[in-house]
Amino acid sequence: MDQIVRDLERAVRNVPDFPTPGIQFKDITPILADPNLLNRAVEALAHPFEQAGITKVVGIEARGFILGAMLAHHLGAGFVPVRKKGKLPYETVSSEYELEYGVDVIEMHVDAIAPNDRVLIHDDVIATGGTAAAGYDLARHAGGEVVGFAFLIELTFLEGRAKLDDSLMIHTVMQV
Ligand code: AMP
Repeated sequence: MDQIVRDLERAVRNVPDFPTPGIQFKDITPILADPNLLNRAVEALAHPFEQAGITKVVGIEARGFILGAMLAHHLGAGFVPVRKKGKLPYETVSSEYELEYGVDVIEMHVDAIAPNDRVLIHDDVIATGGTAAAGYDLARHAGGEVVGFAFLIELTFLEGRAKLDDSLMIHTVMQV
């Protein structure tokens, strides 16, 4: 597993000052473009959850959709998209979370998760943790049992994990 992590780390492209000055954007598209790295990234994300009986993977717009859907396929689970406000066509539940300036809202279809579902929440990057915490709220609101979180990259200096339920498995493949 260590070699996989090193190979993935080498492939992440750091883009300075995107989308705003002072932000170093973690671009995972070189991983997605490489068949071998893509396959191993999914395996590394799934690893702690192989025997966890996950029935739904919740992926957060937009980059959480890519590996999230693959993760669902790998784990034999369904995939649930969580989107920005106003994008989903059917009845939704919503959760508000804080940004650096102001608030944002994410939504999920009201029937996407059943009370007996075992849920894994996924996004590519955990930064401040606000988005993942809002995703957790949606899954809980729907009655699902959240088993854990899986992120490809954790920006540890932002301490996003502190916003998440620490009794759950919070799995991050790379830490920077
Ligand atoms: P968070 O602050 O954890 O709520 O992150 C907000 C969203 O922006 C998440 O979907 C992250 O994947 C994304 N994000 C935040 N910071 C970065 C970064 N430095 N590089 C790439 N994506 C980021």
